[in-house]
Amino acid sequence: MRIALEAQAVRALMRDWFLLCSLSTGTLGSSREARALRQGIQVTIAPVILVVEDDRRLAHVVEMALQNEGYHTIDVSTGQCAITEVRTRNPDLVLLDLGLPDIDGLALLPTIRANSAAPIMIVSGRGDAMQRVRALDSGADDYLMKPFSLPELVARVRAILRSHARVAGGDAITVSFGDYTLDFVARRLLHGEHQVPLSITEFKLLATLARHPDRMVSADTLLKETWGAAYQHKRGYVRVYMHALRRKLESDPSRPQFLVNEPGLGYRLNISGG
Ligand code: CA
Repeated sequence: MRIALEAQAVRALMRDWFLLCSLSTGTLGSSREARALRQGIQVTIAPVILVVEDDRRLAHVVEMALQNEGYHTIDVSTGQCAITEVRTRNPDLVLLDLGLPDIDGLALLPTIRANSAAPIMIVSGRGDAMQRVRALDSGADDYLMKPFSLPELVARVRAILRSHARVAGGDAITVSFGDYTLDFVARRLLHGEHQVPLSITEFKLLATLARHPDRMVSADTLLKETWGAAYQHKRGYVRVYMHALRRKLESDPSRPQFLVNEPGLGYRLNISGG
């Protein structure tokens, strides 16, 4: 069982590495980011935005606008698919239409909230005051009325991600350990002046630990916050990715100074250097 899980985790890691390598060779089309990384210019790890919208034309336009700003997007047209993506892809932000063909968006809100800490922005044509209050009370973070302009959507997305990164990181925007600085808002890890190339998963795993500096974080919490609620028992994933992170960060990965494991308890990001 454990071997099977670890094999699965290794496959996930290989896919991640492939994505990162593809990015740095420009084969995924993000040539701007790839060029910047090759030239040693700092780039951010793009947030993933889940667009839940059954109007296909609108979904396409929204995705284009977000991708143009450098965000990664996932697009689904039903509530059921939205739940699956939230549980398995752990997006950084959910844009949620209320009028969906299978489940009412308002009824979907608590399920998304139960499975993810990501901010949720309602994008809807319905918008009387009561409706907005209900949505915000049910866990939505913002409410954008249709029709909207694309610059307004992009500005609201940027603002909500920035404020969420601040909240998630406490008052701090950055956490430093040794010569490293993890920036929650810019979503990057610097070693001195240089950016450490991390995959999206590696960044999320490290950011989860950095939100609880010097404290033990259980493997289950790391799985939920990094991969999503559906992965809560796949502990092999944490082992494999922690191994990869140590190889990138630690001078001696077999005797980690920063990414400390306490068997049976979890992992800790040691920022006080002891
Ligand atoms: Ca709709």
